[in-house]
Amino acid sequence: MKQLNGAAIIMVLAALSCGPGGRAVAVAQEFATLQADFQRLWLAENRDNDGYQELVKRFLNTSTPCRAQARALQVGMTHRDPTSTLEKGASTVKEFAANNIHWLGHDSFKLVGQKTVYIDPYKVQTPDQADIICVTHGHYDHCAPEDIAKLQGEHTVVVAPADCAQEISGTVRVIQPGQKLNIEGVEIEAVPAYNINKDFHPKANGWVGYIITLDKTRIYHAGDTDRIPEMKDIRADVALLPVSGTYVMTAEEAAQAALDIQPQITIPMHYGSIVGEAKDAQRFQELLTGKLEVVIKQAPAQPDR
Ligand SMILES: [Zn+2]
Repeated sequence: MKQLNGAAIIMVLAALSCGPGGRAVAVAQEFATLQADFQRLWLAENRDNDGYQELVKRFLNTSTPCRAQARALQVGMTHRDPTSTLEKGASTVKEFAANNIHWLGHDSFKLVGQKTVYIDPYKVQTPDQADIICVTHGHYDHCAPEDIAKLQGEHTVVVAPADCAQEISGTVRVIQPGQKLNIEGVEIEAVPAYNINKDFHPKANGWVGYIITLDKTRIYHAGDTDRIPEMKDIRADVALLPVSGTYVMTAEEAAQAALDIQPQITIPMHYGSIVGEAKDAQRFQELLTGKLEVVIKQAPAQPDR
């Protein structure tokens, strides 16, 4: 009997330490620790800002398999510190995505928050004054000097990889993957964007996607990319992901990428102009039904040019 117990213990230990069972246990342990910290740092009566900051850091560092559970905890938090992110409840992020993120077609977005930020402006119809313009890469439908000029005022800062930067006049900051800039309080982090099963966007070009923190909301614009391993380390409240296939991820690949990232809201892009159709966005949404919230935006009609 004693020997049997010994064998049973060994079996349990084996289950804990290896194989998919071991991974599930590790995730359960990670979540239990996170939950305990959440209890200690957030729900406790005497919570302070340092504890709160530590907790936000914990959420940012959560491993991919644990993210969905972690997100459910985050939803219960309301924001306390204007410099912190990922602390907003799902409804607040949803509201921000609805009211402050404007899709202008293709990969082009206008983000309105404490500053006005444009990403990859292309076929701009309404002249405007941007505080910051972020460009992901040198292709003409992303790095469009005449469109950028329509949005540039005296104080506008353009952020772009080197090949695009040399085509732009005005204040331009060159960026490469892994770099962070803070422009007038807006944190801008460049992350890698490249193809892995086609050659349009080679990794060696140093082209980028962006994580932009605006109004305490982390917005990830993926740029022209495939589903790349680095996405597992990207944390964002809102993810803007290409879905057209051909030059970038297909709807299927993009759905997998969204599951890697686990944002509260995902918005498909890179369709309806040049390449890709509305059905790609719908397919993307269907694939994520019951898993992640996908918001399909309507872009203004674009003139041919
Ligand atoms: Zn491109």
